[in-house]
Amino acid sequence: MTVLAGPTAVGKGSVAAQVRSRWPAVWISVSVTTRAPRPGEQDGVHYHFVSDAEFDRMVEQDELLEWAVVHGQHRYGTPRPAVERVLAEGRPALLEIDLQGARQVRRALPDARFVFLAPPSWEELVRRLVGRGTESEQERERRLATAKVELAAEQEFDVTVVNDDLEAAADRLVALMGITP
Ligand code: 5GP
Repeated sequence: MTVLAGPTAVGKGSVAAQVRSRWPAVWISVSVTTRAPRPGEQDGVHYHFVSDAEFDRMVEQDELLEWAVVHGQHRYGTPRPAVERVLAEGRPALLEIDLQGARQVRRALPDARFVFLAPPSWEELVRRLVGRGTESEQERERRLATAKVELAAEQEFDVTVVNDDLEAAADRLVALMGITP
């Protein structure tokens, strides 16, 4: 089990998408979230989009391995049964989650490998966040504030991968997972 975390807009989703298309043998968890789908996002592929009530139910019934409120707004979580099934099968598995979630997984699965995806620089991170253009000004400010705190957590991780180049970063990630790029 490998956990990929890092600040907002560093490209965790893009690196995970690279892994999904180039190494289909790697299983990637599909999270549940209470946020609305963005254009092009498909239910069950990018996320399982659920209501607040359904998320409450999953928390109460202990169906989530970890969950967190991200950017002070929506809830995101990792469905536990799928993770347990894949671990039992011994398949290489990847969780792409936020820092709070990574800390919970460290408690639940201490043997997992924790990878911090870092931007080449703070300026580049800001550029990527603005460049994505999918968030409002207020939302962008909130995410930058979260990113600052998240960058400081790098030393909690086993290893850092710098996302200077998407394909190269994905190559380095799967190499860490013991897969030949
Ligand atoms: P976005 O809304 O841009 O898709 O994702 C926002 C943040 O939520 C990203 O930092 C992403 O890593 C995080 N995230 C996605 N799924 C999960 C999850 O299952 N658990 C946690 N803790 N964070 C998640």
